[in-house]
Amino acid sequence: MLDTAIKTQLSAYLEKLQAPIELVASLDGSDAARQMRELLADIAALSPKVSVRENGDDARKPSFSVGRPGEAARIRFAGIPMGHEFTSLVLALLQTGGHPPKVDAAVIEQIKGLTGTYRFETYISLSCHNCPDVVQGLNLMAVINPGVESVMIDGALYQDEVSARQIMAVPTVMLNGESFGQGRMTIEEILAKVDTGASARDAEKLDAKDAYDVLVVGGGPAGSAAAIYAARKGIRTGLVAERFGGQVLDTLGIENFISVQRTEGPKLAMALEQHVKEYEVDIMNLQRAEALIPAGEDGLAQVRLANGATLKAKSVILATGARWRPRASASARTATARCSRASASP
Ligand SMILES: Cc1cc2nc3c(=O)[nH]c(=O)nc-3n(C[C@H](O)[C@H](O)[C@H](O)COP(=O)(O)OP(=O)(O)OC[C@H]3O[C@@H](n4cnc5c(N)ncnc54)[C@H](O)[C@@H]3O)c2cc1C
Repeated sequence: MLDTAIKTQLSAYLEKLQAPIELVASLDGSDAARQMRELLADIAALSPKVSVRENGDDARKPSFSVGRPGEAARIRFAGIPMGHEFTSLVLALLQTGGHPPKVDAAVIEQIKGLTGTYRFETYISLSCHNCPDVVQGLNLMAVINPGVESVMIDGALYQDEVSARQIMAVPTVMLNGESFGQGRMTIEEILAKVDTGASARDAEKLDAKDAYDVLVVGGGPAGSAAAIYAARKGIRTGLVAERFGGQVLDTLGIENFISVQRTEGPKLAMALEQHVKEYEVDIMNLQRAEALIPAGEDGLAQVRLANGATLKAKSVILATGARWRPRASASARTATARCSRASASP
């Protein structure tokens, strides 16, 4: 299943394992199951710290879990994580085996502090560039916090589920059976959505902010431009965004930005943020606005946020762009097509 070059590379990575790990496969008679069996055997042959069992009884067949022997595994791959997801598999192996992740200590503490049960299911396609970030973030959360489970599901292999759950695009994440999010998400964005304690702490700070002259809602290209224009006039400017960067974050190749022959979405989003930060703009990222309350006698409009805080401003600019429709009848083919769109210029 794995070629010699990949085996050599993977074998070097697996030397970093600090503790034994176990891969438990739930297989059927399909061709995909045969390939999965080969993949797991290849991996186990590369390190004495990796063992494989084939007596898993997960409802999704073929699938396999990654865990420590004797413990309930919290990471599962329902599909063969090759293509863009191969890195997700390698990281899952290493992190489950005790290799320290490369994320901020504060993020690790926030993950450890989550209470409750979080069962994430992420629908992906193997050609999707945005999917691995999401899968890897959720897998890391599962490694760190015993209350978190993460399952990667290849939509092409589980087309019935894709149809039944009306998945339109990849990645699509479900949490405890309910729709959680779509598109590229960083681990910080995921945490901001699930960590209600942090959200309450944020609310207190945001509520205490003085009124802005201009408050921009939205952190895509339009919101960033509005904030820069306002701040350049020397007036007190705030920018609140659910996800700074907007749709650009989900775009790979951009070739119609005049004067820039080719760039990539995440690179452009980073440049937008740097540009906005050149000015005195109070950026409040990972905050969802829920209501706009028109100005009263004090001349201040109010923007109420999902965490309960209220921001005040003389003027509010709404630059909330667009988002994918969350649910509609669709097929796995649609999901794959959407992913392809994320990786190519329209
Ligand atoms: C896959 C893909 C590929 C694309 N490729 C190209 C391309 O190659 N060339 C091109 O010109 N265009 C492309 N586009 C379109 C381009 O990305 C959009 O036209 C552009 O991003 C719109 O900018 P915007 O600022 O108006 O909105 P958006 O980028 O949608 O940004 C909206 C902002 O508002 C925030 N927001 C929304 N609701 C709330 C709320 N309630 N509270 C707080 N914040 C909120 C969002 O988090 C985000 O920060 C592509 C789009 C996609 C999805």
